[in-house]
Amino acid sequence: MEILLIDKPQDTAWRFSMKDELDLHGYKKIAIMGGTFDPIHYGHLITARAVRERLGIERVVFMPTGNPPHKQGGTVTDAHARYDMTRLAADGEPGFAVSRIETDREGMSYTLDTVNQLSSMCDKKCKIYFIIGADALSEITDWYRPKELMRLCRIIAVTRPGTKLRELKDRALYLKNNYGAHIRLIEVPAVDISSTDIRNRVFAGMSISFLTPPAVCSYIEKNGLYKSDDGFDDIRKKLYLSLTPKRFLHTRGVAEEAKKLAAVYGCDPDKAYLAGLLHDCAKDLGRQRSAELCKKYSVELDRVLKTQPDLIHSFLGAVLAQKEYGVNDEDIINAIRYHTTGRPDMSVLEKIIYLADFFEPSRKSFDGMERIRSLAYEDTDAAMDFSLNHTIDYNSKKNRLIHPLSLRAAEFYKNKNKGG
Ligand code: ATP
Ligand code: MG
Repeated sequence: MEILLIDKPQDTAWRFSMKDELDLHGYKKIAIMGGTFDPIHYGHLITARAVRERLGIERVVFMPTGNPPHKQGGTVTDAHARYDMTRLAADGEPGFAVSRIETDREGMSYTLDTVNQLSSMCDKKCKIYFIIGADALSEITDWYRPKELMRLCRIIAVTRPGTKLRELKDRALYLKNNYGAHIRLIEVPAVDISSTDIRNRVFAGMSISFLTPPAVCSYIEKNGLYKSDDGFDDIRKKLYLSLTPKRFLHTRGVAEEAKKLAAVYGCDPDKAYLAGLLHDCAKDLGRQRSAELCKKYSVELDRVLKTQPDLIHSFLGAVLAQKEYGVNDEDIINAIRYHTTGRPDMSVLEKIIYLADFFEPSRKSFDGMERIRSLAYEDTDAAMDFSLNHTIDYNSKKNRLIHPLSLRAAEFYKNKNKGG
């Protein structure tokens, strides 16, 4: 996957010096809090303080991750900007420090190396802890040499809103028995804030005050992080308020991927972007609201839609895009309407939205995803042929009725690719 460092501030005179000013001598208990911190927020800060107070830790060292190495990608803000924001948030709080060990490291970065490096900066007798949220703890066994890591430092597993304590305890026991981990579970005040939500809010043109310290808010604003100046803020704000955070992120991914595909196929990039933004606008309404709106706008439910309500959002979304989001372009409306089922002989824009939905960057990887991505950039008809078959197979295995539009589309693109 191509690495995309988004939102690198134009002004590369970073706020803080490039020198690691960390002095960790003389301490007996140090805790590392690792994270992307894109950006840091009050959830991180309150957690760090609670752990410090509870366990008598002298320094919590925030450790923002570095830039992902080439091709390890995702969309992460430049490491220096994340370091700066973490410093702005931590400065002045007794017992907090920030390390640039990972910020400055090039290539692959492993927590094991970081902990080793940090412990070489501490006194011999210093105990090193690693603070980790319940969500990240579930992935720790996939990290580099997890056994060594868990032998090297004590783990402090903290709750996050939504954490099931029973599951966290079971996980801790499993890591203790199988990895020799020393784990303390700490319940911290529930602060339902995530960096993802902060990025979503800025992207939607909404306020982020009370989510992260004012100095971080100002830094984000000054450097134009996470936002987009394209005149679609009103639409994004409405979408933010009606979609789940995960869907909002997906929507953004489809919009941006659609824009890239549009550039390749000479399609209007703004139209592609808008269609991507709105393609799932009816997806998170809930059964009842969806039924009410179908009735209100006379959206007819055929036999398949009645048994598979998940498909309704495309047809209802096309209507909502017009009635509630004020979009009247027929090609955009059709791209929304047919983004789940497809149909024979689709327009370029319809194909772009249909395809981008499969492989936008936040979508979890599945067998065939890379194939669809590369075909989409080479030949949209071949990509349609492949992805329609993929979807039909997938849904048939789940004993779902296949929508007649998809069957007809699959036939159409099969023939087209045979040169028919
Ligand atoms: P993103 O939404 O981008 O994943 P995030 O809010 O989860 O960001 P990270 O930088 O991924 O923040 O998290 C760093 C560490 O802090 C992780 O161990 C994570 O579990 C923990 N953490 C993040 N937010 C909270 C919170 N609100 N309460 C407790 N722990 C948190
Ligand atoms: Mg996270």
